Amino acid sequence: MKAYRAALLRFDPAADPRQAAVYEADGLLVLGPDASGAEVVQDVGAWAALAPRYPGLAVEHLPGRLIAPGFIDMHVHFPQLNVIGSPADGLLPWLENHTFPEEQRFESPAYSAAEAEFFLDELLRHGVTTALAFATSHPASVQALFAAAQQRDMRLITGLCLMDRHAPAALLNRDGPAGTDATEQSLIDSETLLLQWQGVGRLGYAITPRFAPTSSAAQLRGAGELAARYPQAWIQSHVAENHDEIAWVRSLFPQSRSYLSTYADFGLMRERAVYAHCIHFDAEDRALMHATGAAAALCPTSNLFLGSGFFDYASAEQAGFRYGLASDVGGGTSLSPFHTMLGAYVVGRDGRGKAGLSLTPQHLWWQHTAGAAQALGLDGRSGRPAVGNLLPGCEADFVLLNTQATPLLARRTARAANLDELLFALIVLGDDRVVERTVIARSASARPVGPS
Ligand SMILES: [Zn+2]
Repeated sequence: MKAYRAALLRFDPAADPRQAAVYEADGLLVLGPDASGAEVVQDVGAWAALAPRYPGLAVEHLPGRLIAPGFIDMHVHFPQLNVIGSPADGLLPWLENHTFPEEQRFESPAYSAAEAEFFLDELLRHGVTTALAFATSHPASVQALFAAAQQRDMRLITGLCLMDRHAPAALLNRDGPAGTDATEQSLIDSETLLLQWQGVGRLGYAITPRFAPTSSAAQLRGAGELAARYPQAWIQSHVAENHDEIAWVRSLFPQSRSYLSTYADFGLMRERAVYAHCIHFDAEDRALMHATGAAAALCPTSNLFLGSGFFDYASAEQAGFRYGLASDVGGGTSLSPFHTMLGAYVVGRDGRGKAGLSLTPQHLWWQHTAGAAQALGLDGRSGRPAVGNLLPGCEADFVLLNTQATPLLARRTARAANLDELLFALIVLGDDRVVERTVIARSASARPVGPS
């Protein structure tokens, strides 16, 4: 067993997410293996109350530090890290001029492998311990990302990008060696990768149509069939990001009621289906999200950067569908959860065309941890693994935050009168400098590396 003494943040799953944070100014976090050998939280609470129960246990004392659940990025593009910060005239020119040329490089296994190392190291350096990530349409990119995540024992979900039309040829799925066409081959490759990686260690597979316009009806239908056959796998795509894209989908799939219902019509909405953006929805779309159990990945820095619009929190709450936060790098401008949470606050505040509201700091933090885990189906329900929290039984992924990382942050956090002020100071002023350490739980299948 291992134990840490520091300030501690976790979330009460039974409480209103707006006020669900549980904070210990002087806490104790005790970690140890569960029955399967995976490293989980064994005990958590106030130091004064818990310490007497663990006499003789070596405790790492971290005064002035805050231990919080590892962050969860619900939507990020592994092959777009190198195009972050590329200027463009909106989404479609941004894809054509910057993103597509870079993604073509991931056909190379060597390029993919090197990029996967850098990508995961950057996620961890920013305090992100779980991610639902896009790769490219090249199986090599998926293999590389899974292999690198497995090496780090990181909880990571990805899948082969399905796109059989409306993109440069080098980015489209390819015909198979035995005369199968690209559409059929992409589905075969998806299933092969799914069977190879789903549930291996802490990895999960996501059936990944890029977005409706770049898939034929046959490819979407095949993806829906895979989703029905493998309910334990995830689904990820994009929806309702901007008006040009919506008009394009309408012309391509005129029989569907809306952009979102295109996915439902092909069997791609269910629990563990995660749709990025979800901005330009109507009431029927929101009801469909709720009814199917699909979740939204909110990408505020990307939406602000590309001028796509503002997620409507009040209407989402009313409809009762699940959502959580995401960086959407490279459309997003930072991998830092602090920047994303601040972006979410700005998006929530905007009152043009929707209700403007002030999201509580606890709620912002929850959306990037326990709330994101709930949206992904990784909150421990029905015996599934739990991440994004530090309750007993949760996988022991956490970050060690230095609330005095910069001179101004030190001044501001010292003056924080309550937990919301402390968290909001970190959200507004924080970035990777705050993340002193990111700790990944050892999974049951992990072999110890080196002398222990
Ligand atoms: Zn995206």
